[in-house]
Amino acid sequence: MKIRYLGTAAAEGIPAMFCHCENCEKARRAGGKNIRTRSQTLIDGKLNVDFSPDSYMHELCYGLNYADVRYYLFTHVHEDHFYPLDFNYMYHGLGHVPEGHPGYDVYGSEDILPGLQSLEHSGDMDYLRLHPLAPFKTAEIGDYRVTPIRANHGTPHPYCYIISDGKKTILYLHDTGLLPEDSLSCITGSGLHFDLVSYDCTGGNHERLSYTSHLCFADIRRYTEEFRALGLIDGRTVLVLNHFSHNSPAVNYDDRGVYEALGYVMAYDGLEIEV
Ligand SMILES: [Zn+2]
Ligand SMILES: [Zn+2]
Ligand SMILES: [Zn+2]
Repeated sequence: MKIRYLGTAAAEGIPAMFCHCENCEKARRAGGKNIRTRSQTLIDGKLNVDFSPDSYMHELCYGLNYADVRYYLFTHVHEDHFYPLDFNYMYHGLGHVPEGHPGYDVYGSEDILPGLQSLEHSGDMDYLRLHPLAPFKTAEIGDYRVTPIRANHGTPHPYCYIISDGKKTILYLHDTGLLPEDSLSCITGSGLHFDLVSYDCTGGNHERLSYTSHLCFADIRRYTEEFRALGLIDGRTVLVLNHFSHNSPAVNYDDRGVYEALGYVMAYDGLEIEV
């Protein structure tokens, strides 16, 4: 399974618009992998997770064509993950595809429905099919089995996901704070082996956060210990930190040594990992 991180920042991006903070100034000076855009991850070029206001730029930068991506999965409806307005351009009067094109299948909690059903052309797009997912119920999405897990975040029904292609399994923890009890037991009781865990690291290298909707590195280390003790992860598991905010410490790519020293990969825009 190939996991490609296209956008690795929290909502404001790094550097953030309208911001002169130290992290943003450092990122502006250093450039390269220190520049982070809003959330999007593409699995095997087939299953897209989240579609942000930067997705058009990702299409250009990474040589993609969204007409060739059938499956769109959403974690939640914050605008840095869910920017449905650009789905208007799926409309066949605007985006041209050959006869027999399979159309598009979109998945997420019920929260995605209003934004997609109110698109200007949605009534004329029978090739845009919406699939609300129930928590903890595994769905077949193309070649993948996808289990939504309730997240702890600031939208009505946010999800994290377990995604498997039958050979490899990843745990995608975006966006979430400390997980609700039923979600944690869904993971810890799954009996699965995770080949990759992608952690919400919005809090950067903080020891504790003053808010509950994201994780920091100290929370992540505790989860890793718990997962390792239960045999859900082992030395082969790739541990990725993603979704960085300019408001937290150690979030520029040049700070990655803090995390690498403990065996974690700090995501950057364009990073591809094969498990
Ligand atoms: Zn976010
Ligand atoms: Zn800033
Ligand atoms: Zn969010």
